[in-house]
Amino acid sequence: MSAAPLDATRDTAAAGRRAVVVGAGFGGIALAIRLQAAGIETVLLEKRDKPGGRAYVYEDAGYTFDAGPTVITDPSALEELFAAAGRTMADYVELLPVSPFYRLCWEDGRFFDYVNDQAELDRQILEFEPADVEGYRRFLAYSKDVFREGYEKLGTVPFLNFRDMIRAGPQLARLQAWKSVYAKVADFIKNEQLRQTFSFHSLLVGGNPFATSSIYALIHALERQWGVWFARGGTGALVAGLVKLFTDIGGRIELSAEVAEIEMANGRASAVRLKDGRRFKADMVASNADVVHTYGGLLGASARGASEAKRLTKKRFSMSLFVIYFGLKTHRPDIRHHTVCFGARYRELISEIFNGADLPGDFSLYLHNPCVTDPSLAPEGAGAFYVLSPVPHLGNADIDWEREGPIYRDRILAYLEERYIPGLRDDLATCRIFTPADFKSELNAHLGSAFSLDPVLTQSAWFRPHNRDDKIANLYFVGAGTHPGAGVPGVVGSAKATAGLMIADRAG
Ligand SMILES: Cc1cc2nc3c(=O)[nH]c(=O)nc-3n(C[C@H](O)[C@H](O)[C@H](O)COP(=O)(O)OP(=O)(O)OC[C@H]3O[C@@H](n4cnc5c(N)ncnc54)[C@H](O)[C@@H]3O)c2cc1C
Repeated sequence: MSAAPLDATRDTAAAGRRAVVVGAGFGGIALAIRLQAAGIETVLLEKRDKPGGRAYVYEDAGYTFDAGPTVITDPSALEELFAAAGRTMADYVELLPVSPFYRLCWEDGRFFDYVNDQAELDRQILEFEPADVEGYRRFLAYSKDVFREGYEKLGTVPFLNFRDMIRAGPQLARLQAWKSVYAKVADFIKNEQLRQTFSFHSLLVGGNPFATSSIYALIHALERQWGVWFARGGTGALVAGLVKLFTDIGGRIELSAEVAEIEMANGRASAVRLKDGRRFKADMVASNADVVHTYGGLLGASARGASEAKRLTKKRFSMSLFVIYFGLKTHRPDIRHHTVCFGARYRELISEIFNGADLPGDFSLYLHNPCVTDPSLAPEGAGAFYVLSPVPHLGNADIDWEREGPIYRDRILAYLEERYIPGLRDDLATCRIFTPADFKSELNAHLGSAFSLDPVLTQSAWFRPHNRDDKIANLYFVGAGTHPGAGVPGVVGSAKATAGLMIADRAG
């Protein structure tokens, strides 16, 4: 680099009062808000030209596409961020209720509308399997129990010591956390399609329902408790509201600011250097970027960075996703906001997605039709959609996505046209894809994983990368790769855990 590095921060005398957060995903933004609200001067550095990370926004020909999260649960965790900053969420963003939460469809033509109305749920369950009405009640009670223990008590607590894990042990044992989500659902529910209905949720946070701890069954209770929401204007409007909150309280965000290195001095993180040469001094550094990228790429020059990166690359990583964002000339009000299109195989397909060395020949899809909730996302009378297919990450299946992507896209669109959206291809106004290779290059995601480390029990809580590094005392982590894990409520929870540590460390 020929230009002399620029110290882009103003001088602040007191130690522990200046923080740099690397990455403006939901976790990074939520952390930055909490730090700034606590009086810590915070700079948020984002590689891409827009904030949001996985919640990026594409705008094509008058259509607005949320790139990632669309199912917003636990609005109270978001409200808490605004309250921490002395503001009210309603002044920044409006959340709209979504019903049904999801429509689940099978190839035999059956479907299940997962709603928040017990009588309506009972009526539908009865049609699938009468005995499962009672089974569902027992499953819901279990899910609520796990929700209290796993989410309310432990979801925002940093697991820094094995002691913390041991303390949680009796509860995890009582809840049979060693069982998988699917196995636990199967303890209560007989019908296979209903088992899929109540076990697929862990896929939303990158967990294989046949391998992920039954603790993830809590997502069901979480949705029943607070509902499923969508931000008016799309998830991008929620991101924009959070960023505005951050800057309104004095925070500073830099976009197109790719971090090249976290500099170290005397065993501590001392500054962050960008690819373009700019340099930000810091008393504390938190990374919201991928954990392997952070240790191996940004701290790779240090012994700690190299050894942690080596250790983490031996872990299991979650699946990737193939996403098609497409605009149709016509609105399709008959398609629900959130539709899950189950393929013919469930267990076998999921196994191939998580462990297989090739792209499976079939797929199960999630279809997003936000215009039924908010028509402003497409030109008048038109519809903005996305469809995603879970696929193996690049470490398992080293697919040439540049070549395969368009072929896979065409197969998925043909399938949707045949079963869900008649005339789709003639109605296309715009279309773009995002592949595992893009997760890797755009988001620096290790192996192109969409959700970071696989959330199996042996990679959860204390076993996940810690919210504060064990050796570098002023280096912190936030986001999907740390506790509690992926998903918007997860990473917002991780921000609370990490902020608690940073604020306490600043004082001490
Ligand atoms: C298609 C899709 C659909 C999903 N749907 C849902 C859903 O409906 N509901 C739900 O709750 N969750 C959903 N998820 C999961 C959820 O989106 C993620 O778990 C969550 O948003 C991840 O947030 P994060 O804080 O870990 O940050 P990320 O979103 O991973 O952001 C990290 C940021 O770091 C930046 N970065 C990386 N390297 C650098 C660097 N060197 N310098 C500067 N910046 C850097 C990246 O550009 C990125 O902006 C979905 C995920 C995907 C991919």
